Amino acid sequence: MRHTQVKTDWEAVIGMEVHVQLATRSKMFCGCGTDYLGRPPNSNVCPVCLGLPGTLPVINRRAVELLLKSALALNCEIQPFTKFDRKNYFYPDLPKGYQISQYDLPMSRNGWIDIGGKRVRITRVHLEEDTGKLVHSGDSLHSGGESMVDLNRSGMPLMEIVTEPDLRSATDARDYAMELRALLRTIGASEADMEKGHLRAEANVSIRPRGSSQLGVKTELKNINSFRALHRAVEFELKRQGQLLESGGTVVQETRGWSEAEQRTISQRSKEFAEDYRYFPEPDLPPLTFEPAYIEELRNSLPELPAARRTRLAERAGLSEYDARLLTGELEVADFFERLLDLGAEPKPAANWVIGEVLPVFDGRLPDAADFAALVKGVQAGDFNRDQGRQIVTRLMEGAAFAEASAGMAQLSDAGELAAIVDRIISENPQAVADFRAGKQAAIGALIGKVKQASSGTANLKLATELLRDRLSR
Ligand SMILES: [Zn+2]
Repeated sequence: MRHTQVKTDWEAVIGMEVHVQLATRSKMFCGCGTDYLGRPPNSNVCPVCLGLPGTLPVINRRAVELLLKSALALNCEIQPFTKFDRKNYFYPDLPKGYQISQYDLPMSRNGWIDIGGKRVRITRVHLEEDTGKLVHSGDSLHSGGESMVDLNRSGMPLMEIVTEPDLRSATDARDYAMELRALLRTIGASEADMEKGHLRAEANVSIRPRGSSQLGVKTELKNINSFRALHRAVEFELKRQGQLLESGGTVVQETRGWSEAEQRTISQRSKEFAEDYRYFPEPDLPPLTFEPAYIEELRNSLPELPAARRTRLAERAGLSEYDARLLTGELEVADFFERLLDLGAEPKPAANWVIGEVLPVFDGRLPDAADFAALVKGVQAGDFNRDQGRQIVTRLMEGAAFAEASAGMAQLSDAGELAAIVDRIISENPQAVADFRAGKQAAIGALIGKVKQASSGTANLKLATELLRDRLSR
C-alpha cells in the first residue's frame, strides 16, 4: 500500500539572550582595568575581583549609565528601584562562589527593537559581572591535560539583554544580533565585537506546528563566535529538531554548543531540572533608585540611532533600504558616507563606491573624505574611467592623497583620438566585425576589450562604445 507522507509545516520560535561587555575603563565593582586582552594570566586582578573574604564591591557608575542608555535606546521602561542579587553556584572560574547579578528587580523591562519591519520585544536588560576563564591544556581532561584558571576577566561589567521568543528564522536571529551591535556601537555602550567576545549571543530555539500557540521544548545554543555562526547554528538546530520530531522522537531540553569545525550543534548539558541558584539580595551593595530627571537627561543625550539614521540616509541619498543598511552597519563608514555627501559627492555614485570598494576591505581605517569625494566627482565628470577609479581608491586606502593617487591618470575622452583607435581596431579584427554584423551582439565586447588594451586602459569606454556602434552600423 502506498500513502503520501504529509510533512508538518513547522514554525521556528527563537528567543535570544545576549551578553554585552560594557565599554567602561574599570571593572564592575573594583578599580581593575578592562583592557586586559593579551596580558599575562591573573595580572589584572585585585582582592575584590579575586573574591577574597573581607573585600567590598563598589558599583561602577559608568556601567550603570551605559546600561540605562542601552535600555532607553531599546525602548525599555527604566525601573525606579533596582537592586543586585547573588546568584550562587560553584565553578572554578568563580572564586567567590556567587556571581553578582540582578534577579527580580532588573534595571529595565518591556522594550522593543524593530528588525526589517518586525518588532522584537525585549523582556529585560540587567547588569551583572563576568566570571574568569578556564584555560585547558592538552587534548582533554581525560588524556592528561590540565585546566588552569585566568581571572583577568573576573568582574568585567556585563549587560544581559533578553528577548521574548519573537524571532522566526535563523536570518531573524542574525539580523537581531547585527542590529543590536549597530545600536550599541552607536551609543558607545560597547565595541560589541563577537569575535572578541564583547557580544555573546545565545539562542533559545524550538519549533511547533504552524498555527499552534503552544511552545515546543527548547534547546539553548552556545559557543557562537560570529554572525555567520549564529545563522548556521540556528539553521542547523531548526533542521535537527524538525527531523527528530518527524521521525517520532522528542526534543530534549538541553544546552548545545556550536562546533565550527563540524558545523553542527553538540549536546553539552541536559537541563532536565531547573537550576536553583538560591538568589538573595547582595548585602554589600545598596539598592539604586533613579531620579526621573536623570533618566530624561540620559534619554536626551542619545545620539541618532541606526534605524533612524538608515531612514534619513535612504531619504537624503535616495538609497534602497538594503544599501542604507550596508552603509550604516559600521558607525565610522556611516559618518564617512555622510561626509562625502556634505562635500558634494553625488549620493548614488558615492554609495556605490563605498559599498563596492571600501566596505569589502574595511578594517577600521578609511581614506580622507575630501580625497575620496574628489575621486567620486572625478569619475562622474569623466576625468577617470571606472578601472582608473578603482586604482585610485586602492592608493587612497593605502594612505595616498588624491593628487598623488591620481597622478598620471586621465581618461581618454578626446573623440578624435578615440575614433582613430576604434578605426584601427575595426580594420585589425575583421572576424569580430563580421560576427557583430551577423547579429552576434557579444562580439562588440571583444572589440571594446581591444580598444581598452590599445589605450592602456585609459579609454572612455562609454564614448568608445558609441563610436564603435556608430561605425559598425554603417
Ligand atoms: Zn579587581
